[in-house]
Amino acid sequence: MVTVKITFLGTGGGRFTTIYQTRATGGVYIEDKIKIHIDPGPGALVQMHRYGIDPTKTDVIAISHSHTDHYTDGEVLIEGITNGGTKKKGYLIGSKSVIEGFNQYGPAISKYHQSLVEKSVSMDPGDAFNIGDLKIIATKSFHNDPTTIGFKMHTSSGLISYVADTDYDDSLIEEHKNARIIILPVTRPLGAKIPYHLSTKEAAKIVKSVKPEVAILTHFGLKMLYEDPEYQADWIWKETEIKTIAAEDGMVVKIGKDIEFL
Ligand SMILES: [Zn+2]
Ligand SMILES: [Zn+2]
Repeated sequence: MVTVKITFLGTGGGRFTTIYQTRATGGVYIEDKIKIHIDPGPGALVQMHRYGIDPTKTDVIAISHSHTDHYTDGEVLIEGITNGGTKKKGYLIGSKSVIEGFNQYGPAISKYHQSLVEKSVSMDPGDAFNIGDLKIIATKSFHNDPTTIGFKMHTSSGLISYVADTDYDDSLIEEHKNARIIILPVTRPLGAKIPYHLSTKEAAKIVKSVKPEVAILTHFGLKMLYEDPEYQADWIWKETEIKTIAAEDGMVVKIGKDIEFL
C-alpha cells in the first residue's frame, strides 16, 4: 500500500484567528501519487516554504468556498504550479462561488489565473473529478456561502474526507460514510454553537455515526483555542470511542496500513 501523507499547513479558521494568525491558515496538503492542496488561505505559501513543500509540484488546488480563510493564496499557488504562468499545468477545482461566482461571492480566483491551469472545474455536491487513480467527490455543506462543498478523496490508502465549513445536518453522515479519516472544521467549542459552523458536540455526532479510524479536528476559531482544542478532541474521543486528534500547525499524518502521527 502506498503511504499517503497529510500536512496541516494551518489549523486556524474564522475571522479573528485568521486576522491575528493565532493559528496559521495555509490549508491541508495531501500527497498521494497526486498532490492536492485544499483551502490555501492567507499564509499558505509561507507555510509551504516553512515545511519544505515545493509549490511547483502541486497537481490540484481544491477550494471549498469563497471565504478568505480558504482561498486567498490560491492565485499565487497557481503561479507556482504553472511556472509563473508560462506552462499550462495542474487543475483548480472548487465551489461554484470560487470558479464562477455566486451572488455576492467570488469568483474567488480570477479568470486570468483560471486560464493558466489545464482545467478549472466548478463542482456541485455529488460531482466527481478524476485525475490518475485519484477520485475526488464534492460533498454537501450547509454554510453561509450556499455553494460550499467538501471533498471526499478515494486515495491509494483509502477514503479521506475533508468536511468543509458547515452547519450540522444529518445528511453529512451519509456524505462521509466509509471514510478512514475524517477531517472536521470545528470552529466552536462545547456550549458555544453559532450558525453555519460545527461545534464540538455536533462534530461528535458526525464522528459517532461515520465511525472513521481517526477523526482530526481543525479550523479553530479564537473561542475554540481559548477552550483548548485538545480537551475538545478528548471529549469527542470519550463520547464516541473513536480516536480523535486536534491538529496542530505543521502536523503530519502518514496513512498506510496504519495511521501514524508525526
Ligand atoms: Zn472558514
Ligand atoms: Zn467559511
